[in-house]
Amino acid sequence: MTIGWHFDNSYSKLSNNFKEEIKPTPVDNPELVILNKELANNLNLDFSKIDKKKLSEIFSGNSLPEGTKSIAQAYAGHQFGHFTMLGDGRAVLLGEHLVNKNKRFDIQFKGSGKTSFSRGGDGRAVLGPMLREYIISEAIHALNIPTTRSLAVVKTGEKVVRESLLQGAILTRVATSHIRVGTFQYIAATQNIDDLKTLVDYTVDRHYPEIESSKTKALDLLNLVMEKQCQLVIDWMRVGFIHGVMNTDNMAISGETIDYGPCAFMDYYDPKTVFSSIDKFGRYAFSNQPSITKWNLTRFAECLLPLIDKNQNKAIELATNKINSFEKKYQEKWLNMMKNKLGLFGVDKKDEFLIQDLLTWMHQKKVDYTNTFCHLMGEETQNEKIYEDKYFQDWKKRWNERSTNNNNSREKNIKLMRSVNPIVIPRNQKVEEALEEANLNNFKLLNQLVEILNKPYTKQENISIYQIPSILNEKYQTFCGT
Ligand code: AMP
Ligand code: MG
Repeated sequence: MTIGWHFDNSYSKLSNNFKEEIKPTPVDNPELVILNKELANNLNLDFSKIDKKKLSEIFSGNSLPEGTKSIAQAYAGHQFGHFTMLGDGRAVLLGEHLVNKNKRFDIQFKGSGKTSFSRGGDGRAVLGPMLREYIISEAIHALNIPTTRSLAVVKTGEKVVRESLLQGAILTRVATSHIRVGTFQYIAATQNIDDLKTLVDYTVDRHYPEIESSKTKALDLLNLVMEKQCQLVIDWMRVGFIHGVMNTDNMAISGETIDYGPCAFMDYYDPKTVFSSIDKFGRYAFSNQPSITKWNLTRFAECLLPLIDKNQNKAIELATNKINSFEKKYQEKWLNMMKNKLGLFGVDKKDEFLIQDLLTWMHQKKVDYTNTFCHLMGEETQNEKIYEDKYFQDWKKRWNERSTNNNNSREKNIKLMRSVNPIVIPRNQKVEEALEEANLNNFKLLNQLVEILNKPYTKQENISIYQIPSILNEKYQTFCGT
């Protein structure tokens, strides 16, 4: 009865400056809540012959797969702009599972007990937030956006003390790695240049082997990470995703979306949208995400300076030039992305005005972002009346003229739109509903929601209730859920 694990633990072979060797703390009475069979399949893992009790033992960390050498990883981070030494305070990396001998995936338990990085925390996680990460990360994946994945969630059978007593849970997270901007900040803060070189080499080997023999490796790495992060934030803007806590420890060097805490999707279009209860000043508001990405990349660049050039002034100049190219890159990508959303081919000087005018109208009239693009694709939405608005009708005429002036068929335009505009997104009230039910041991809504969000670009039957803009809207708040 083999599951198919193939662990190789390259990160655990790095010196103790990078990590602490530690095992998950066993839990009382684990019970599997959800298992991602499709992901398991992609990872060449077969759990079909394992009974639920044994699965619960596996995904709680009570029974560790052979070949793991578990660690807690060290990292630091700017949290809301303030630098702190952090590390896996409630997570343990089991190791790296190899698929077909060459694809490497971190398998991590989140909520697995205390480590030396716990800083007074209990090392545990709560059922609601872990299921929330499962739902949203898998939705983001289905939206074709790079992200860590969720393989399973178990309840631990233990209570966790928060504002009240809550059900403990562990999420099994899969990532191409958990190396963060904060990992570089941690090593840079120790001022050990050999460790910094080791980290750069390790990261390049794992994520960017194409620059392995470059003479300007550190600068090239900055460039590639910038490309990836720029594309990532463009994808978030495309679907209206608000990460909510873009601290540097929550930015992965791989370019995957990581650490789903108070994240949520925007309903009606408002650039200032913030859902997180702790984001008092809107630092991580929807429209701030690109500039925060640049801010975080600047922190990354600072870590790399000693390896960019021995002459510090030269290093700063090189890094600054690179970082300053972010806006232009972002603007270009953004325009392209929005043109795709509107099914526009070719170049027209007025495109930017056309896009801005639509956004301004949505903002002023509080119109749903996702549904507006659905309406333009000819999908019936929950509130068709709003699109009878005179200003919108005039705008639509301009859009139609622009769409047809490049000799492309309506079918071709719509096909492009359908590839980038989701029909369903995780609506806040639907997520909350599923989590509330799950808390009461009823997982029907959870499973239904996960299934529907798995095909966001496909027309599905009976999904209108998943397309209603949040009734919770302005009052809606998300919490970090630690
Ligand atoms: P997060 O909000 O999940 O990005 O976590 C930020 C930092 O706080 C990380 O270093 C976590 O390991 C740590 N942390 C969060 N919750 C806990 C907890 N319950 N116990 C210990 N450390 C925690
Ligand atoms: Mg984090």
